Amino acid sequence: MNLYAALRAGFPADLDSTAVDHDGALYSWRDLERGSAMLANWLGRLDLPAGSRVAVHADKSVEGLILYLAVLRAGLVYLPLNPAYQASELEHFITDAAPGVVVCAGKHFGWVSKLAFQRGVRWVFTLNDDRSGTLLDRAAQMSDVHTPATNAPGDLAAILYTSGTTGRSKGAMLSHGNLLSGARTLQRHWDWRADDVLLHALPIFHIHGLFVAINGALLNGSQLLWLNKFEAKAVAARLPEATLFMGVPTMYVRLLQEPVLDARRMRLFVSGSAPLLIDTWREWQDRTGHLILERYGMSETLMLTSNPCRPEDGERVGGTVGPALPGVGLRVLRDDGQPCAADEIGHVQVRGPNVFSGYWQMPEKTAEEFTADGWFKTGDVGRLDARGYLTLIGRSKDLVISGGFNVYPAEVEGFLNELPGVGESAVIGVPHPDFGEAVVAVITAAGQPDPDALIRTLKGRIASFKVPKRIVVLPELPRNAMGKVQKKLLREQYAGLFA
Ligand code: ATP
Ligand code: MG
Repeated sequence: MNLYAALRAGFPADLDSTAVDHDGALYSWRDLERGSAMLANWLGRLDLPAGSRVAVHADKSVEGLILYLAVLRAGLVYLPLNPAYQASELEHFITDAAPGVVVCAGKHFGWVSKLAFQRGVRWVFTLNDDRSGTLLDRAAQMSDVHTPATNAPGDLAAILYTSGTTGRSKGAMLSHGNLLSGARTLQRHWDWRADDVLLHALPIFHIHGLFVAINGALLNGSQLLWLNKFEAKAVAARLPEATLFMGVPTMYVRLLQEPVLDARRMRLFVSGSAPLLIDTWREWQDRTGHLILERYGMSETLMLTSNPCRPEDGERVGGTVGPALPGVGLRVLRDDGQPCAADEIGHVQVRGPNVFSGYWQMPEKTAEEFTADGWFKTGDVGRLDARGYLTLIGRSKDLVISGGFNVYPAEVEGFLNELPGVGESAVIGVPHPDFGEAVVAVITAAGQPDPDALIRTLKGRIASFKVPKRIVVLPELPRNAMGKVQKKLLREQYAGLFA
């Protein structure tokens, strides 16, 4: 098998119809097939050892998507990197992954090629977001006919570095079989159709924009309306043509500031990667008439749970990430390993054909994160209700233990967010001489918040050990490219608050 071959089988019969519309530049399905064949033939020419990584540190472009397909069909390992990474970050990834090929933007060729060649990389090509670069020049001379490599389902298709929210990014090794199983599950569960039109505004170096959105659209022969960047205005302008949209919560927040959101053709709005505030969910319903479908997944596992798409599959419940997807095993355990009762908070563990085989070159870490009976420890804390819907509470690493009591940041954030003057909030634990850790809240202002008054109000609503000892107001919360709050930065910044 080969993931590209499986996706290719989903292309429509009319290969000359439009597959991707990038601001009016149209790519047919045949363009994807031919372009990826030419690039795969070029990669084949390089005589790379089996399993070689092709690292891509380039701005989002349709050619970047075609390159992803080419790496799959060549049977090599696709390794996308955030193009915002600077030298010290890229150095880590290149040293760690030891790719055979690095593809970068022309404007970065100088420092990237130096860094790569010094670390033994043999080939460095450029790919720009304006259809230029040495990679395309080389491929232009190649044949546009190519037979996809034959892989075993367990063969590595991609290494996806995790977002680095809780520590240093780890390379999740995903096989052709993992990725195909993930895409097929969503195909059925989200009722994906050939006449769907997906508005694509997510980055393509991350699971959400790449494996959920792109694999989904290609497997189902659905057209992509392509934006190289997320801009609320541009998304709102193309919204009337789309039937599907996938975004991270911050995108929905920004879109709500647009005066017009015309969702008349829209079938499904999906949110994931970070928690979606219930207020955003409600406001979206008021504005567009649509209930955003929230789902949960991670680089290591692809998608794990999803709210229902079809009414006959159940109710779409805001604030939850829905039940486990078909084929995904999910359990919530107490600290002692016993199963939690309904609604009891515990550690989320999963298994299934979607779960990765391990972290790249981290056998010990891999062994630590799997239980003896083969379940993967997600590192997320949550609770299952009686119907099997999962509500995420936060990360186990973010749990604050203050004076011996467990404080779940998400619970405190939920109360804070309801108070006047508070925009968003992030609750963290920082070292404290008496309590071990003290609860601290970092908030953004929506008006004129008075930290002392907020603390007094909270004392009347939740147990005092959960109430922040200090509330800090910032203009905005530090977030990464996927809109995830970088709590580790906040913990570092406020580590000395009680020293
Ligand atoms: P790292 O593992 O490097 O610390 P990361 O966990 O953020 O970074 P990803 O694999 O990109 O890296 O993200 C997966 C995580 O994102 C999940 O474990 C979960 O904590 C969070 N997540 C995904 N979807 C949702 C969601 N719908 N609601 C809340 N959190 C979510
Ligand atoms: Mg993670």
